[in-house]
Parts: sequence; structure tokens; C-alpha cells
Amino acid sequence: RPDVFTFGETMVALRGSGPLKLGGTMNVSIAGAESNVAIGLARLGHHVRWAGAVGEDEAGQLVLRTLRAEGVEISGAATDPGAPTGLLLFEPRLPEVTRVHYYRAGSAGSRLTAEVIRRAFSAAPPRVLHLTGITPALSPTARSAARCALQLAREHGSLVCLDVNFRARLWSAEEAAEVLREWIPAVDVLIASDDELPLCLPGGGGWEGSPLPLPPQEVAADDAAATVARQAGLLLDQGVGEIVVKLGAAGATAFTHSGSLYRPAKTVRAVDAVGAGDAFVAGYLSALLDGEGTAGRLERAVTTGAFAVASPGDWEGAPTRSELSMLGAPPGTVVR
Ligand code: ATP
Repeated sequence: RPDVFTFGETMVALRGSGPLKLGGTMNVSIAGAESNVAIGLARLGHHVRWAGAVGEDEAGQLVLRTLRAEGVEISGAATDPGAPTGLLLFEPRLPEVTRVHYYRAGSAGSRLTAEVIRRAFSAAPPRVLHLTGITPALSPTARSAARCALQLAREHGSLVCLDVNFRARLWSAEEAAEVLREWIPAVDVLIASDDELPLCLPGGGGWEGSPLPLPPQEVAADDAAATVARQAGLLLDQGVGEIVVKLGAAGATAFTHSGSLYRPAKTVRAVDAVGAGDAFVAGYLSALLDGEGTAGRLERAVTTGAFAVASPGDWEGAPTRSELSMLGAPPGTVVR
């Protein structure tokens, strides 16, 4: 029985070092929110199965080879001869601003089907199903694949973790809200940024009407925190067991029926913020699988999140278990 089953689109990722239009060299890797989480968990020693579709091409081979090398089980992955593996380009434009260009419309990953997921899930039902709000935005078949996974998780008693991961390039807030609100009653652990919570609430939690409802800038920080707490409370009432709100460099807060717990972020020199959210999820689920309570889950999540921020790449810097304690080391430490 795998600890975690996750699925989604993983693409080839090319990372440059300046404005894309100037050309130059690019680093070749892979990227996908769910496979980032899968690698993060595998590095921490968990048994993870990933499923998805890649094209019958060298890019697809790179995706599968990398996941295999990272210890992620890929027996449920499918090859689609009718479409290419997707591609994304990272363009670091300013030290703190990276532009991402996607070439994924009609890709093999976006043509994922419920049949692939049914087979991969049923081969050995997992303790935890992790899915993101990206997959249902890819295509109608990918959406039914996600729905199928939720159904199977319920039948087999797998805990369901959902990371909202709203992608405005793929669908509108209204479309996302329609799907996410339907899923919420099946979710045990919800992970989201504070501005994503309204997408999960019936009627928008009071923010219905605006495209991606954000509290206005002038609202005092206390009011924003109170709004998040109120929205988390509404989600607990809907049956979600825990709501974990990512706050970027400020850390994260978890809400459960026993109350809320805030954990500040670990201080690191930020090198590349992309992938912090996925690394955070991997840390959170890892501690949950180990039987840790909310405090222990948050502690490992902010640790793995900080590792991602402090390392270039989406998943390359993910820590192994023995590396987790490195963050506390004083500057200049040499580990011999
Ligand atoms: P992405 O979509 O880029 O993966 P996200 O918006 O989902 O990111 P963030 O809230 O930016 O997620 O980051 C997730 C977690 O990573 C935070 O809760 C925090 O613990 C950690 N983190 C983010 N930025 C920093 C930072 N500058 N320094 C230390 N830790 C950070």
C-alpha cells in the first residue's frame, strides 16, 4: 500500500538566466506540481506513486526517467502516442520575479483519462490521495480523472489532500469555484494560499462577484487574518478536517476543530521561490504520515518550503530526512 498516490501533468522545464528573447543557454529539467510533491515525499523516505500521461517522445522519457531516479513509483504512468509532452520555460526577469511560459495546450498530460487513474489507484489503494486544482483545469477528461480519484479514495478509505493551486491562465475563478466547491465535502486536508479560500466556499464566503476575490489592500492585516479565520471556520463546517493556509515568507497557519496554529517561515536567503508551495505540501504530508500532530506537520512543512526557496529549481533542493536539521546550522557550517 503506497503512502501517497498523486497524479497530474508533468512537463519538461527549461530554465534560462535572463530575458528569454536574448537567447543563451537553458537548464533542462522537469516540473509539475504533483510530481514536485511526489519527489519531496520520496526524498523523505515515503512510498509514493505518481500517475499521469506523457507523449511518446524524448521529453516524456526525461519525465519518467527523472521520477524513477528520484524513487517515485511510476508503474501507473501512461504514454499517449497522439500528443507531445508539455513544455514550460522559466524566465528569471528580476531577482524576485520569474515569468513562466507554458506550451501545454493539447499536451499528452492534459489528455489524461479517468481510466489511467482508475488503474493506477486500484493497483494498490494508498493511505493518502493528493490532488491539485490544476488537473481539473487541464481538460474535461482530466477533470473526470480527478473526480474518479476522489470517488476511489472514498471507497477505499484514503485520506484526501487537496492543494488549491489556482492557475488563472488555465481557467476562470468562476469555473474553478464550481469544481472546487463540489469537491470540498470529500477533502480531509485542504492546503491553499489565503486568497484561494473563497474559491472553495459556497457563495464565495462573502467575496462573491470579484474575479479572484482578494481582501482590499487597505484592509488592515488583522482584518485580513480575521477573514481567513472566518473562511477556514466555514470550511471546517463543510467537513474539511484541517485547512492549512500558506502565507509565503510569513509562514503558514493551520485551522482544525481544536483551534488554529501559526508557524513563521524559516529564515533563508531566497534564491528561487518557485516550488515552495509543493515542497511545503510534501513536508506537511510527510509529518502527517509519521503520525505527527498539527505543530509537527507545520514545522516540517515550513522547513521543506524553506529548502525549496533557498535552492534553484522546483524540486532539486528537496531535503532527505537527515538533511532536515541543516536549516538550523549557523552560517559557514561545513558538514564533514
Ligand atoms: P508556489 O506556487 O510558488 O509553489 P505558493 O504560493 O503555493 O508557492 P508560498 O506561500 O509562496 O506557496 O510558500 C509556501 C511555503 O514556503 C510558505 O508557507 C513558507 O513556509 C515557505 N516560504 C515561502 N517563501 C519563503 C521565504 N522567502 N523564506 C522562507 N520560507 C518561505
